[in-house]
Amino acid sequence: MRRAHGLARFNRRTWRRKQVQKLTENRALVQLREIKQGFARYIDRNFGRFAEDCSKCTTPCCADAQFVNINITRLEARAMIETLRESSKYGPDKVAEVLDRAQATATTYGLSEEGDTFEKTYACPLFEKGVGCLVHWKAKPAPCIQHGCYENWQHLPEAGTLRRVERTVARLNEQVYEKPVEFLTIPVWLLKINRENERQ
Ligand code: SF4
Ligand code: SF4
Repeated sequence: MRRAHGLARFNRRTWRRKQVQKLTENRALVQLREIKQGFARYIDRNFGRFAEDCSKCTTPCCADAQFVNINITRLEARAMIETLRESSKYGPDKVAEVLDRAQATATTYGLSEEGDTFEKTYACPLFEKGVGCLVHWKAKPAPCIQHGCYENWQHLPEAGTLRRVERTVARLNEQVYEKPVEFLTIPVWLLKINRENERQ
């Protein structure tokens, strides 16, 4: 589930030259969900049958603090929180629980906004044993959707579609927030959004 550094740097370099069309956050959240679900369907249809069954996995990668280095955007963090908050199954209590785990994770693994955030690894606070990813269908990061274990490397999903999805997600962020997209680890973005919500 490692994500290349190139995209974040590309966006910082090209930001000033781009004209972006303004989009409201609510509309962007709907678009983001549709993009992620479309990508998940594409991966499942074309590669899913070759991948190992994650529900039977005894060593889930999401809980592996040496492995996960997923960085996400502000809009994706907002989508994660809203997905949990609006869920009839989870709701605000689960948001609070995930934020507690995010705080513990950030402290344990020294996650912050400083330095190369892609260099740090952590166990994901959105993973629950026996459940899996709490935002599986509505707000999973694209590299997580792409990731799987395959017996044969020939069956691995191609990377081009993932890159296109990530560029689209970056563009949505720029359309809503009108500044260069910022990539941070999942715990750091969740905590940052929560602090902002508390101040409002
Ligand atoms: S992707 Fe692989 S390591 Fe991760 S949960 Fe699925 S089977 Fe396990
Ligand atoms: S967001 Fe979901 S799939 Fe991605 S690392 Fe966290 S628990 Fe795993």
